[in-house]
Amino acid sequence: MAAPGSSSGLEVLLSTLQNAGDIESTLNILNVLDELLSAGTDRRITYMISKGGSEALLSALVTTARTFSPNFTILLPLLHLLAKVGHRDRRIGMKAEKAEAVLPTLTLLKQNVKHTRRTAACLWVLQVFCSSVTTATLLGQNRGLDVIFRLIPPHTTRHKRTVKLLNHFHIFLSEANVRAAVAKGYVSALLKLYEDWHNKDPDHETIPIRLALLHCLHQTTHCSAGRDALVAQGGISLLYHTTQTCLASNGLESLVEPAVQLMRKCYPKCPLPLTSDQSVYTFPLPGRPTDTAPGPQDVSFEDDSDDDIENEEDDDLESDVNKLRSRPEPDRPLEQLGQYVRLCPELHHDFQDLDSDSEVDSSSDEEVEGDQDGKGEPPENHLQACDFHSHFLSSASVKQDSHPSMVDRLLEKHGACIPHHDPRMYTTAAALTKSIPEYSILAFPDFWGHLPPQSKEPMAGRKPNVQRKKVLEDVQRLLNPEDIIDEVVFDLEDPSSQCSPDHSDSLSFFSKFECGNLRKAVHVRRYYDLILNADANCSQHHQWFYFEVSAMAANVPYRFNIINCEKANSQFNYGMQPVLYSVREALEGRPNWLRTGTEVCYYRNSFCPSRGQKSSSFYTLTFTVTFKHNEDVCYLAYHYPYTYSALQSHLQVLQRSVDPRKLFFRQQSLCNTLAGNPCPLVTITACPSSKSWKDLHQLRNRPCVVLTARVHPGESNASWVMKGTLEFLCSSDPVAEALREAYIFKIIPMLNPDGVINGTHRCSLNGEDLNRQWMKPDPVLSPTIYHAKGFLYYLNSIGKTPLVFCDYHGHSRKKNVFLYGCSVKETVWQSGSAVNTATLKEDPGYRTIPKTLDRIAPAFSFNSCNYLVEKSREATARVVVWREMGVLRSYTMESTYNGCDQGVFKGMQTGTGELEEMGVKFCQSLLSLRRNTMLYNRRVISQPTLLNLDDNLLDHKSRNCFEDDEPPCVEEIEYLNDSFPEPNRNDLDSEVNGNTSSAEEEEDDEEEHQTTGNSRRRSMKSRLYPHLIGQETLNIKRSPCNGMNISNGQYLS
Ligand SMILES: [Zn+2]
Repeated sequence: MAAPGSSSGLEVLLSTLQNAGDIESTLNILNVLDELLSAGTDRRITYMISKGGSEALLSALVTTARTFSPNFTILLPLLHLLAKVGHRDRRIGMKAEKAEAVLPTLTLLKQNVKHTRRTAACLWVLQVFCSSVTTATLLGQNRGLDVIFRLIPPHTTRHKRTVKLLNHFHIFLSEANVRAAVAKGYVSALLKLYEDWHNKDPDHETIPIRLALLHCLHQTTHCSAGRDALVAQGGISLLYHTTQTCLASNGLESLVEPAVQLMRKCYPKCPLPLTSDQSVYTFPLPGRPTDTAPGPQDVSFEDDSDDDIENEEDDDLESDVNKLRSRPEPDRPLEQLGQYVRLCPELHHDFQDLDSDSEVDSSSDEEVEGDQDGKGEPPENHLQACDFHSHFLSSASVKQDSHPSMVDRLLEKHGACIPHHDPRMYTTAAALTKSIPEYSILAFPDFWGHLPPQSKEPMAGRKPNVQRKKVLEDVQRLLNPEDIIDEVVFDLEDPSSQCSPDHSDSLSFFSKFECGNLRKAVHVRRYYDLILNADANCSQHHQWFYFEVSAMAANVPYRFNIINCEKANSQFNYGMQPVLYSVREALEGRPNWLRTGTEVCYYRNSFCPSRGQKSSSFYTLTFTVTFKHNEDVCYLAYHYPYTYSALQSHLQVLQRSVDPRKLFFRQQSLCNTLAGNPCPLVTITACPSSKSWKDLHQLRNRPCVVLTARVHPGESNASWVMKGTLEFLCSSDPVAEALREAYIFKIIPMLNPDGVINGTHRCSLNGEDLNRQWMKPDPVLSPTIYHAKGFLYYLNSIGKTPLVFCDYHGHSRKKNVFLYGCSVKETVWQSGSAVNTATLKEDPGYRTIPKTLDRIAPAFSFNSCNYLVEKSREATARVVVWREMGVLRSYTMESTYNGCDQGVFKGMQTGTGELEEMGVKFCQSLLSLRRNTMLYNRRVISQPTLLNLDDNLLDHKSRNCFEDDEPPCVEEIEYLNDSFPEPNRNDLDSEVNGNTSSAEEEEDDEEEHQTTGNSRRRSMKSRLYPHLIGQETLNIKRSPCNGMNISNGQYLS
């Protein structure tokens, strides 16, 4: 046989296969092909596919199958080869349809159901055909499923075969077939089979069959009809009870998880018990009609937070160097910047009073100073603190008394000495705070104050299978509805359900205080379902929580489920616990927020929005709290609360604590918020040592450092870091003194007071994320951002562009504290752009602070930092201040809600002490910058050689910046993904091979008895082929590297 010049040997083989007339030569060719494909790698099969191998095999199959009495001596090896090749051919389904090979193969199957090997061979081929949905559907329409389903026996001893059949069955389940299977009652039949095999398997010998049946059920419940059928047929109950048996006996563990996932998947969707998904709190926005609520509605919950970068792709990176380099025109005329002169009082102050001991001059900013000096009592009826006290005192069984003396008596008797906190000042500040619901009650922890606990708090260990336990409890709710209490014990919209004493056996809940956001509490059984209020004027962003709970019994575990969380994962699955504050403990001298809660976990539940699409669902945060005292009043929160009133009183305390002759401390209002709350701006610097021109000049030439925080109200950790910063900068620490002499600090500690006050998680009152407004902030709807940006423009215009800008945030998915900065070079490099980064000039000074922090701050992780400019972040403070103001060191500082996985705090949850320390360390790092800036500014910009050195730094890149910090959860948070892997190709190969090698064990096959001969001996080489072909006719050369070259005719002699 000689190869024609243009054809390869393989092509000749393939063409001969289709035209061969006699059995002998067909078998010969099949054997040669199998020899070629059995050795070496998949590359040969791919090559064969590229040369029309699939088509040739299909055509041979059709020809043989159509004969009156198909010859299985040829068909068996042919089917085997087709299964092997087809499995690697993505278009095999389509090719099979085109060759009209699908139905003949099904017919072969139908005619040979009594022959195990023939059945298996047909099933494999049909299985690879089903890689195309249309082929699977075609088979379904031609009763393919029925043929296979009838093959599945009830409980017998022929286990192995049943498993294989079941695997074939679920492979055939295209969407259309699933519907057909459901319509034919297969769900019910599969459930009966599962029950049958479960009941008749005392020795656990048929686990693979039971597992395979669960696979099939998973496949048939991909459509809602399948899920409904499973529920209607009592599937949940069956699965629940069989799972209980499995849990009770050893060796059945592998069945539990698939069954639990199946229950979760089929558990009927349940709308949240709310009248509307919209927040209870609405705020009429200027220029918008009041009846239509603004903000996104009925949108799927997209993760748009700063802290969620793991789903980003590199294509989010800005790769356009010109865009990265360009500086946009200011968004407003220069003339408007004059209004910000007043925010730089230190530059215009003459310090004439330096030598006298008069108070700080407040004349420059009467509007704020007048309001906030904390001396005047609030109007009698503005803040009814007695409400708050009667609320907490009635349940704490302390006798009620009238308003002022009660506060005084409590403070006299129990008053804790908490640094920088004054309860009376807090009350005064709170009285001036304007909220949508007009709070009249204070939460005790905010009023009384908090001290970090004495000892560090380790991350909570996760018990094995805790989520499963919770899910099974949830399933019981469906199975045994009769003992569900289902009593609403708190409803923010229905005042009659608040603080009412008639829920005698229930806990009492309350959240109508600053930062509180519990919307509804339902007593379900031994546990409570809690629903969080959406951010004001919108219908989403549920994550932050803060509420009061009372009327508890001591030493009883209470389970709490927050059932409308939105994020896809949470640090609550990685050792984080909520925080708890006990009034009783505080009155006994332990005013501490403590990490609390056992059996903490976070998983997708079956709730959906009350009116939204059923496709979007929620997550449950569940935790169990065992309270220490009877009839205590306790507070639970996502993280250590820090209210706007706390900030206001803190600033008052700080202002009183400083020596005005040494320290220039000025609190002003940047502007008023939408709700009319002043947004504080604090200036801190050292007073000049004399009023001489030289000293005044030194002061006026100090570089500015601008710090902001809490644009995201749910990130209370940012406020604690800021608290540390403020206290340190006002302290007598020598480093703080040096910093004050070196810099003028401009601090906006709370960019979103309205959000903080009203307990929102992400947004301001306009239902939008303020940290996405920096490019074009709206002066009316986002006043704090508009004026913060205007103030930065002003600093720019007077030549005082900040040396450093940093916006403090909290990060919900990662551990440690870290910085995001901006670097053209690193962004271009990481984006894979063709631009040669070595030729880009960039001042590497943005790395000084993170490098210093890595050295001095134990919670800080340099490896978590990155300096990439993402398109999706281009309207954030960090990027806008960098790009539009030209601030080289423009950062977001992210602090974990959880704790650290490195350094001395490794394995510990952060407390307020560590957060405050971080605020101190950030300030300290600025001092190192002071030394380095001179060097960088003078030399680096002009010398490209120095810049090239920095390329080495790029090696130190945060490589994992796009990865989730955490390994996958031990238990599946989601149930929608099919957790069963499809059988892979190696499985199929070994099955195909096994069909021949184990052939002798099957008694209903006849062919191999005629032909086996020396097959055992040869089986390692060519296990598909029974016989015959003289090996000497083949002259197969093996090349040393990757198998043989089959692209020419060299082996054909
Ligand atoms: Zn944030």
